[in-house]
Order: sequence, then structure tokens, then C-alpha cells
Amino acid sequence: MSAIMTTPDPLSTALAAALDTVADPLTGKGLTESGRAAPPRFSDGVASLILDVTGLSGDARAQVERAIRAALIGVPGVKDVRVAMTAEKKSRRLIAIGSGKGGVGKSTLAANLAVALARLGMKVGLVDADIYGPSQPRLMGSEGQRPEAHEKQLIPVPTRFGVPMLSMGHLVKPGQAIAWRGPMAGNALGQLIDADWGEAELILVDLPPGTGDVQLSMIQKQKPAGALIISTPQDLALIDATRAIDLFNQSTVPIIGLVENMAGYACPHCGEVSDPFGAGGAETAAGALGVPFLGRIPLDIAIRKASDAGQPPAAGGGADAQPFLDIAGHVMMWLNGTPRATF
Ligand code: ADP
Repeated sequence: MSAIMTTPDPLSTALAAALDTVADPLTGKGLTESGRAAPPRFSDGVASLILDVTGLSGDARAQVERAIRAALIGVPGVKDVRVAMTAEKKSRRLIAIGSGKGGVGKSTLAANLAVALARLGMKVGLVDADIYGPSQPRLMGSEGQRPEAHEKQLIPVPTRFGVPMLSMGHLVKPGQAIAWRGPMAGNALGQLIDADWGEAELILVDLPPGTGDVQLSMIQKQKPAGALIISTPQDLALIDATRAIDLFNQSTVPIIGLVENMAGYACPHCGEVSDPFGAGGAETAAGALGVPFLGRIPLDIAIRKASDAGQPPAAGGGADAQPFLDIAGHVMMWLNGTPRATF
């Protein structure tokens, strides 16, 4: 078999060589060698190219553009130079935290998991989509803050824990009843998720409790990469958790796993461990449903107190941080084994 060889014309060669005299500000290599630009095209005296400016500051972009113009205009025959800039869209994943019913610790898990993942080095943001009872501002100590907007895009509120966040609770006055219907809630959530999340590579979404249409349409619209379900150990709660798993299965969102909350109460006075809601039920249910069991968070008054004080236990050095760090470890392992999806 003989390959057809085409010899590049001298002008194309000269343009490519000229472009490579300009160094990538990050790597110091020539622009084609560093993959920032393909060799320029030439037509009617105009040399044009597309420059990938991902990771470059505004100044660096302007400097490189000037250098490209100077280099290409020096090539005989070139009368004008056009440079179009593009930046790679940050690839970012969404993980939904769901529960079959309210009061099982979904918001507590979402806040502490976000903090634990940040402690493990991930760049993570938190969205509170719980339209019926947005509690993340309280849990993350950002109550009363209002997100700013830049060119119609919301800017997440920073927190002391390195986790930027946005909540429905930031958009309404505290205590104001929220009676949004599905589509309105969906639009508001869209704004929170499409906010300017900067460097965040992962967004945790604290979903409203339950398995109704609001939840279903949110899941279908936002297409999370995976879902975490939380339940207390007793049978009744587990029946609801099973419904939540069904909901994600219907939308073909992979279940990362099930978390058991409020098992094993250690009496603060005598230290005796009891199980007001039973124990091990979620692990058994996870086995029966064929989903991974990710861990157990004990019923601990310190968790409730710290949460109410806007100090997520996962941020501290106490024993109550450990279950959240362990679950965060499982989530990171899951993320490492999953192809990246962009939204
Ligand atoms: P949900 O989001 O499922 O409605 P929350 O996270 O708001 O549930 O938790 C409900 C209440 O239970 C809160 O007061 C919270 O502080 C408390 N809570 C949650 N998990 C625990 C736990 N493991 N130990 C003690 N209190 C907890």
C-alpha cells in the first residue's frame, strides 16, 4: 500500500513556523507544540487561527494575541491576522443527595459530605435544592447572606469551610414560606446550578425529600452523575429509601450507595449504646437492593448541636467527623472510576 503524501505549501509552512516562535505562557513551548492552536489557515491575504486560552489570565491572553499578530504579519503575503479565542468548558459533575422522606438527615449529610470532600482536597460546591425547607444556610453558617449576580449569573456564597454554596434559602427571606410549583422550582434550581462555580469540579445537590414529580423533573433536567441515598435504619424509612432508589433508577442515574443515619445512640451520661431506630437495616436493605452500602452515621447529640450552630462536624477534629470522611472517601473512589461528564 502506498500512502498519498501531500507536501504543505511554503506559505503554510512559514505560517506554522511563525506561530511556533510564540511561546505558550504556561509551558514555554511553541503554540502548536503545546496544543493551543492548529497551524493558521490562509485565505485572501488573511491568516486566521483559533487559540485555546484555557488557564490564561486576561493579561496573558492579550500578550499572546499581540505576539501572534506580530509573528504572522511578518510572513510575506499576510495582510491581516484574525485570532479567535476559546476556553475549554470546565468539566464538572453533579451528585444528588436524596431521601425517601424528610427528617432523616439528608441535609446534614450533604453539608458534611461537601466539607469532608473539600478536606480531602476536592474542589466542591453545594446547592441546596430543598425548596420545602432550605436548611443549608444554617448548617454552613451562611444565613442572611445574599448571593451577588454577574451578567445574570449568580455568584455562590463563600463559606468558612472552603465550600462555596447556593441555597433556595439565600433567595427568599428567612421564614418566608415557599410554595413554588414544580416548573418554578425547576427554573430556580437551574439558576443555582448554572451559577459561576469557578474552579469547582463537583457540585453536591441537596434534593427535596420524597419521590414526587418535583424531584423527578429536577433529576431528569439536571442529570446528576450519581446519587447518594440516606435513610434511618427502621423498616418504614427503608421502604421510602427504596422508593428513592427507584426514582433514580427510572432516570438511569447510577446509585453511588446508601448511607444509614441515626443508628447506635451513645448515651452522653452512661455511654451505653442503644438503637432507637434499630441498626443495620440500611446495610441489609442495600444488600437486598444490590446497591453499595457506604457507611453509618451514629445518632449523636453533638452532631445536632454543631449543625444548629453552623459548624459542620466534618470540619472539626472530633470523632464525629470520621463517618463523614469515610463516606467522602467512598465517593472519591466512585468518582475516580467514573468517566467525566460535562454539564
Ligand atoms: P433532612 O434533610 O432529611 O430533613 P436534616 O439533615 O435536616 O434532615 O436532619 C433533621 C434533624 O436531625 C436536624 O435537627 C439534624 O441536626 C438532626 N440530625 C441529623 N442527623 C443526626 C445525627 N446523626 N445525630 C443527631 N442529630 C442528627
